[in-house]
Amino acid sequence: MQTNLTLSEDEMWQAFTNKDAAYDGRFFVAVRTTGIYCRPSCPAKPARKNVAFFADCDSAEAAGYRACKRCHPRELLLPAEALAQDTVRWIEQHGHARLSELGSAMNVSPFHLQRTFKRVMGLSPLEYAKSLRVQRLKTALRGPDAQPTRSTDAIYEAGFNTASRAYEQLDAIGMTPSAYQKGGRGMAIAYGLVDCSLGRMLIAGTPRGLCAVYFGNDDAELERELRDEYPAAHIERHSEGTWMTWAQAIAQYLLGAQPYHSLQKLPLDVQGTAFQARVWQALRQIPPGQTRSYADIAQAIGQPSATRAVANACGANRVGLVIPCHRVVRENGDTGGYRWGIARKEALLVAEHR
Ligand SMILES: [Zn+2]
Repeated sequence: MQTNLTLSEDEMWQAFTNKDAAYDGRFFVAVRTTGIYCRPSCPAKPARKNVAFFADCDSAEAAGYRACKRCHPRELLLPAEALAQDTVRWIEQHGHARLSELGSAMNVSPFHLQRTFKRVMGLSPLEYAKSLRVQRLKTALRGPDAQPTRSTDAIYEAGFNTASRAYEQLDAIGMTPSAYQKGGRGMAIAYGLVDCSLGRMLIAGTPRGLCAVYFGNDDAELERELRDEYPAAHIERHSEGTWMTWAQAIAQYLLGAQPYHSLQKLPLDVQGTAFQARVWQALRQIPPGQTRSYADIAQAIGQPSATRAVANACGANRVGLVIPCHRVVRENGDTGGYRWGIARKEALLVAEHR
């Protein structure tokens, strides 16, 4: 019999027979016929005459036994709290958690991790990771920064691998990024109309930033376009306000009096699907004077087969010029479509090329 054992053999055998987890870590049971050693709670049940008891893993292994693959006796060396804490830290850093991945990161079996974590934290590692993501996503979506990429950034900051997974998660809590402010519900939009080198320009915004920049020839048509786009919003025409500052920046850029950088600094308040937001963000990376194909953008957002969806997202852009959808052209070099007319697109491309 081994030294350092404080329990009687009968008590240990009894604990082993009862699979009593309360004894886990206090002794180990080795099975001579299999050469394997276990924790007391292991479901393996050999005959009493074949077992030997050890005080710790090291002495069992020194005697030539291997750790059981069912009950992973070595994992008892990690105190439950420390393991749970390390796991929390890992999830917070990596943002996602597959149980097998977590297990190997923590160097314990997925089963042990699951059980220990749940005992300490009151929920499973996956449930914890999920609640953390949802919490971060909600915070980010409701945050004060209004950027066109807001949904996407939020989703990625919240640790989702793909937008589709984010949607699944959000569906589960009754919300999607695009439905978050559907039809502009809750938005207070002020707009104005001015002349510019492309004709008439409608500029609309909320207190958070630009939500529409349209080009056309007819004020009434442009106003209708705005109301169609934001049917649930409170919309008012203003003779002055922040929109004028934005309009000025755009007009100046069109005249070549300001670098594109000045438009990139304008605040945006644009809602869209996560996919649209990714496309719009990619558009903003195209320097003036250059063009990309729809396939290039699809590639840039990591969805090379989504060329058609990219074209749709470009077409759904409601902040002309500031989100430069005009810099996306057909693969074969054709100008391609433009929400505000091909002539305007060509004029913009020519002007920016100079
Ligand atoms: Zn075992």
